[in-house]
Amino acid sequence: MNSEKLRKADLLDDLKKSMSFYQALGFENLPIKLARGNQQSAMTGKGNGQSASEKKILLEALRSEIGDCTRCKLSKKRTTIVFGEGDPGAKIMFIGEAPGREEDLQGRPFVGDAGMVLTRLINKMGFQREDVYIANIVKCRPPVNRDPEMDEIETCRKFLEGQIAIIRPRVIVSLGRISAATLTGNPGLKITAVRGKFFDYKGIPVMPTFHPAYLMRSPKDKWLTWDDALRVLERIGEETGVKSNKTDI
Ligand code: SF4
Repeated sequence: MNSEKLRKADLLDDLKKSMSFYQALGFENLPIKLARGNQQSAMTGKGNGQSASEKKILLEALRSEIGDCTRCKLSKKRTTIVFGEGDPGAKIMFIGEAPGREEDLQGRPFVGDAGMVLTRLINKMGFQREDVYIANIVKCRPPVNRDPEMDEIETCRKFLEGQIAIIRPRVIVSLGRISAATLTGNPGLKITAVRGKFFDYKGIPVMPTFHPAYLMRSPKDKWLTWDDALRVLERIGEETGVKSNKTDI
């Protein structure tokens, strides 16, 4: 095959892969403003080879695809969709379960009381919130902060999967039972049984730990979450300078 034919075959192959990637995310149209390289990297999941600005463009495309979403019943009572925020090139991604009251009002993840606990944890790990990426399993607040239901999780999960595919963090920290259960695909999972042990999610190590809201109710367990955080730092090769496991968050 001559070089022109090879180039056309490559382009066709890229287009096919792009179509399946965006179809899997539930996109009705390709985000046509994106350059070919951006589409290819996102669909192949090799996000670490992309610049943060390329990932930012992809995340914006994903956010606009979500639009004013009414795909599940959580849309009925929510005020604002809470997409997620942080550095698109982050090494660490924190994933909670669902927005709460403050998050629903402000449109930002983890900004209420539990958010303050998470922010302290991030700071203790040597980062600012802007250095990491924070998202939830579902993007809309469940009424009276109930747990998100399976149909809601299943409908919304393609958006989280899209965020993970674009960001491709070095490590994911899943916060609480529902986040770990969704990422492992094991709805019966107990957080006390799995926390502190890495599992794999599509080639990305995931560290399950307690949800910050639980730590507010059981502050005696904060040191366990700190222990989990130290394992995350060890995995990504960051020096914290913190020696004690019993530090407060
Ligand atoms: S939770 Fe997800 S799927 Fe459901 S309405 Fe909100 S954005 Fe759409």
